[in-house]
Amino acid sequence: MKIFETHAHYDDEKFNDSREEVLKKVVDVGIERIVNVACDYDSCISSYNLAKEYDYIYYTIGVHPYEAENFEISKLEEIYDSLDKTKLVAVGEIGLDYSHDDVNLEVKETQKKAFIQQIAFAKKHSLPIIIHTRDASLDTYSILNDYTDEKDKILLHCFSPTDDLVKFTLSREKCLVAFGGNITYKRKESFFTYLNMIPMEKIVIETDSPYLPPEPKRGTINDSSNLVIIAKKLAEFKGITAEEVAKITYENASWFYNI
Ligand SMILES: [Zn+2]
Repeated sequence: MKIFETHAHYDDEKFNDSREEVLKKVVDVGIERIVNVACDYDSCISSYNLAKEYDYIYYTIGVHPYEAENFEISKLEEIYDSLDKTKLVAVGEIGLDYSHDDVNLEVKETQKKAFIQQIAFAKKHSLPIIIHTRDASLDTYSILNDYTDEKDKILLHCFSPTDDLVKFTLSREKCLVAFGGNITYKRKESFFTYLNMIPMEKIVIETDSPYLPPEPKRGTINDSSNLVIIAKKLAEFKGITAEEVAKITYENASWFYNI
């Protein structure tokens, strides 16, 4: 099986003792392309460095909503200018995360501002956008509606479907969703109803390694070899084979990242 890993963080310190070994192992199970996703300024650079070192790794730049208070668009432009852009495939992960208790109105406004500015940045440089959204479905929906258009490629990462976001996904030809370990967890019935509404042409797979390991590997450090488990699970829901899932999602991801 030839598999495209659309979202991982191999620069994370959890891989400090095993990075080389893990990146070799995942190739052996069929992972052919990996997008290493940035979440702050440092990881923009470390993602770039990984892409420089491994021919099958690509990188993104962007600032996660957790880091929104440190966000400055000039700093992101500076990073963009300083890097070789041959393997730069997207802006991400950017978005909104209201899941922490201390997210008050002011924090929300700060996150929204960083999100909107980074959407504009992605449009300016003609790059796709990887969205992180958690407990912020309605605001994410409004911002995407107001600040993006039909031409923009948008990927909703670790997709947790809601009415708004499914409606948005189905209304935009260039909007894809990514499923990962989350489809192997026990979820509400509605999760699977939504999953069935989204056609395979709009789906890619990811692990978000080292986070979110699928069942039965919860509690371990996740890595891209677990995409085999995720492909099988998605295949069950869609009534196709894991090989078909791998093939379709590979094509979708290659189109999305333009590689
Ligand atoms: Zn991530």
